[in-house]
Amino acid sequence: MKTVKQTRILEIDPLNPRLDYLLEAARVIKDGGVVVFPTETVYGIGADALNSAAVKMIFEAKGRPLDNPLIVHISDLDQLSIISIEVGEDVYRLAEKFWPGPLTLILYKSEKIPYEVTAGLETVAVRMPAHPVALRLIELSGTPIAAPSANPSGKPSPTSGEHVKRDMMGKVDVIIDSGDTLYGVESTIIDITRDPPVLLRPGALSVEDVEKVLQKKIAIPDFARGLVEAYEAIAPGMRYRHYAPSKPLYIIESRDYSNLERYCLQVVKHVKKLKENGLKVVVLASTETLNYYDEVEIICLGSRENLFEIARNLYKALRRIDELDVEIAVSEGFEERSLGLTIMNRLRKASGYNIIMVD
Ligand code: AMP
Ligand code: MG
Repeated sequence: MKTVKQTRILEIDPLNPRLDYLLEAARVIKDGGVVVFPTETVYGIGADALNSAAVKMIFEAKGRPLDNPLIVHISDLDQLSIISIEVGEDVYRLAEKFWPGPLTLILYKSEKIPYEVTAGLETVAVRMPAHPVALRLIELSGTPIAAPSANPSGKPSPTSGEHVKRDMMGKVDVIIDSGDTLYGVESTIIDITRDPPVLLRPGALSVEDVEKVLQKKIAIPDFARGLVEAYEAIAPGMRYRHYAPSKPLYIIESRDYSNLERYCLQVVKHVKKLKENGLKVVVLASTETLNYYDEVEIICLGSRENLFEIARNLYKALRRIDELDVEIAVSEGFEERSLGLTIMNRLRKASGYNIIMVD
């Protein structure tokens, strides 16, 4: 039977964080408890990264398979020496430019990091989050915090206090509610132990920006584009269906979105077919393409000119599919440049690879 916990909710204003609440949450981490906390990407569910019993409770609360490793969150570069045995120059160069921020690096782990955190791997994922509440929480806890996203396994990641309260009440000791997160998608994960470095997951930071600082090309395997499942242990989490609404979702993709009218007319054709089959449909569209669709529910993701906006709205939109009175969802596709790569990775996985290619 699952343990039901008394969950304490702490509302912390990110601009003016209450020290007494932060100290209370930090005490829970120190004592081996589990705390849901905001980051600039999505909400995380965290525990002391050096305490394997505490880390195990994260997996239980999420229903997460044990072979899907966590990210270790730090507040200070000095903590790298606790976590990793080998910190190269590239790590410091990237840290200087992008930390605190939405970049996660894969390093060789030290023996202090329990295998529960890394799912048995010899490597560990590390990042320094750029959220005042997350940073202060790590600092006051006096230990790195291991945390994945705070959603039940397989569901879209939480981007608001409402999401985490709905998903995690009774499963954790503390939920810190600091309102909406900034980016609304997870961090970019790069395996820097390889040469060339490998993108394991596109995220809030564009690969192009990281390449500029590294002055190296980063390899982008097909699974990072969300096109095939990850093989073996290279990126274990990627084997599972992620970010998924309960209802079926189809992504209608093109190799070329330069002629939006031509593209949308083909999406319209597919939507019409579904309606003719008696299905209630919702279309995930952009500001530029909304008007092509008649007599159908629409969720607007934002402007194609502002991929940051689309990324930020994505998980709310995926959750909205389940709330609406519809049976099936169809999403437009986006060009795979900059954050478009991240958006397409999430959409393809959320659809369970239900991809329809049009011209
Ligand atoms: P989440 O924050 O929920 O997205 O989960 C953490 C992500 O980090 C998962 O996608 C993991 O696959 C990834 N990750 C953590 N540690 C490693 C590692 N050592 N090697 C590869 N990927 C990792
Ligand atoms: Mg996750």
